[in-house]
Amino acid sequence: MIPSAFDYVRATSVDDAVRLLGEHGEDAKILAGGMSLIPMMKLRFAAPQTLIDIRKIPSLGGIKVAGDRVTIGALTNHAAIAADAGLRKAAPVLWDAANVLGDPQVRNLGTIGGSLSHADPAADYPAVMLALEAELTVVGPKGERKIAAADFFTGMFETGLTDREILTSVSFNVAPASAYVKFHHPASHYAVVGAAAVLSLNGGKIASARIAITGIYETAFRAPGVEAALAGIDPKDEAAVEKATAGAAGEGEARSDTFASGKYRKAMASVFAARAIERAAKR
Ligand SMILES: Cc1cc2nc3c(=O)[nH]c(=O)nc-3n(C[C@H](O)[C@H](O)[C@H](O)COP(=O)(O)OP(=O)(O)OC[C@H]3O[C@@H](n4cnc5c(N)ncnc54)[C@H](O)[C@@H]3O)c2cc1C
Repeated sequence: MIPSAFDYVRATSVDDAVRLLGEHGEDAKILAGGMSLIPMMKLRFAAPQTLIDIRKIPSLGGIKVAGDRVTIGALTNHAAIAADAGLRKAAPVLWDAANVLGDPQVRNLGTIGGSLSHADPAADYPAVMLALEAELTVVGPKGERKIAAADFFTGMFETGLTDREILTSVSFNVAPASAYVKFHHPASHYAVVGAAAVLSLNGGKIASARIAITGIYETAFRAPGVEAALAGIDPKDEAAVEKATAGAAGEGEARSDTFASGKYRKAMASVFAARAIERAAKR
């Protein structure tokens, strides 16, 4: 449980962090909350030679709701998201996720940028970002670029970030009729299965839906079949929602461990998708 020796440097700005990434090469790692990186280093799954601490870069913090757009700085911790009254109204799907993520220590240190960059297959936020159709802003040596959430999560612990880039913020349109629910692992609180729903309602019926699931495969995914089947139905009609969410997990081979088999995870995807839809429709 002792990491390999490493150097530590503190970045003073985003440009400074990008410069340091370039200077130290692919053996350097950004340090945000350290809630995933430090355990990985202690287990020697990661052995960066240099840690670039970005925690004192003021421009990377904060939650802004302006009109119908929400922007959250990468260094915003889970506790700040979980406590934000404006976000609770604007995007309860993200507020829900922050409130059920980890434990108080993890919520106080872990950041949204760290979670998204880490791309754990059982993390909560990737499903939320997919359902919100969020846009992630990253900065590298060639300047700033935007990556759609759909293109960001490319595999287990893999993202569209290059090793010279840092994630600076996420933004998305407000989504008041939205919810996230999960079946959490009792020890870690990570999602065994988690479901995010973003609805638009018209006359009490679902006009359109965006549904995303995490915990089952190597990365979170949208469920387009469920989204299409939900259009036009009354979210209070339990039988119709159950029918629409059947098979939410799709056809792949799900992850399996001593706690939950792949078959169980797939069955729970439908159950938790239906619960997320029910909760989102009540908001
Ligand atoms: C006991 C425990 C329980 C947990 N439970 C849950 C849970 O229920 N649900 C859940 O979703 N997560 C859970 N987590 C993970 C938690 O959300 C972490 O906070 C998060 O995964 C990592 O965020 P961090 O800020 O600590 O990042 P760090 O650990 O500092 O970094 C993680 C990785 O991201 C990179 N990185 C960090 N920030 C940036 C950036 N801005 N740009 C580019 N790269 C960056 C780092 O280089 C590193 O590779 C848990 C963690 C622990 C220890």
